[in-house]
Amino acid sequence: MEPPTNYGHGNRAFLQALLARGTLTYPEARPIIAAIINADNAKNPDSEECRPDQVSEQIFMKYIDKASSAVSLFDYEIRSTQHQATKERIFALVNTASDPQTQLATIYSPEELSFIKRVLDAMFEKFNRPRMESLCITEMQAIKLARPPRRESQGGDEPQSQAPVDRGLKHSEVENVLESLVEGGWFEISREGFYSLSPRALMELRPWLVDMYNDADAEPNDWQRIKFCEACKEIVTWGLRCSDPDCTLRLHDICQQAFWRSRRGTTCPKCSREWTGDHYVGERAITMTEAYQRGRRRSGGHRNTLADDVIREQGAEEESEGEEVGGGEEEEEEE
Ligand SMILES: [Zn+2]
Ligand SMILES: [Zn+2]
Repeated sequence: MEPPTNYGHGNRAFLQALLARGTLTYPEARPIIAAIINADNAKNPDSEECRPDQVSEQIFMKYIDKASSAVSLFDYEIRSTQHQATKERIFALVNTASDPQTQLATIYSPEELSFIKRVLDAMFEKFNRPRMESLCITEMQAIKLARPPRRESQGGDEPQSQAPVDRGLKHSEVENVLESLVEGGWFEISREGFYSLSPRALMELRPWLVDMYNDADAEPNDWQRIKFCEACKEIVTWGLRCSDPDCTLRLHDICQQAFWRSRRGTTCPKCSREWTGDHYVGERAITMTEAYQRGRRRSGGHRNTLADDVIREQGAEEESEGEEVGGGEEEEEEE
């Protein structure tokens, strides 16, 4: 692999901007590229000022291509994906040599990392059941995960003497970690207050998520925790599902139109049921329910435990939850 030709100050500045942000969209890149072009032209008195709206997508892609070949020398790659809800194309710098845990380990303490793992487990196990695939978590629910579950066998509160004890996080620390995950581009927070994985996290974590949460020996039509869009084959954490609760067909909102157009009909190719388009994957599995809408009207925006109420009401949660913080519940998933 050779260094890209004509790689100048401008390309370096562009890469720096991408490095600093982690991700970049075309609209975000336009003013950056315009500033770079203007800086380059500063020595030339005859040059005209470049406005952001003059930066075409073609120019943007040239900068992406140059940056891409430059970073490939250092085990990085620029990948792109579409945001599942907004359709926006997002470019991200991905480290191909180290996994995300290693990257996160440079930022977070062991207690914080184990909290993050508990949050991911909640997103992909507890809040991701065949009947309700919400794949997101509220701050209230995350606070319940502040401490590691207590071992039943240990009985009382006595900590074991050997091995450092993971005391978990304080509530204020939970808030800080969630905030920094959003800032770092790993999590997104929705208007309704649900945290979910960002497009960049889905891109980087994809192999890990599949490895961690899916059953490699499952049959092709078995329900799996990590689901893929029938059209684009990317992970679905925000999208649509077949009206048959036992059918595993999932589609992104942004993919469904083209998908059905190419089939000249809207019967599910897996189960032959009519596609209704109003069964959801992601937070809308909660927020679009009658119970949630009713609860929100009634509580007038105060909805700390509303998501929990809805999940319970929909019967998506088998076990009844204790009040204690950090609850000792374990999943009994293995059949
Ligand atoms: Zn898709
Ligand atoms: Zn179906």
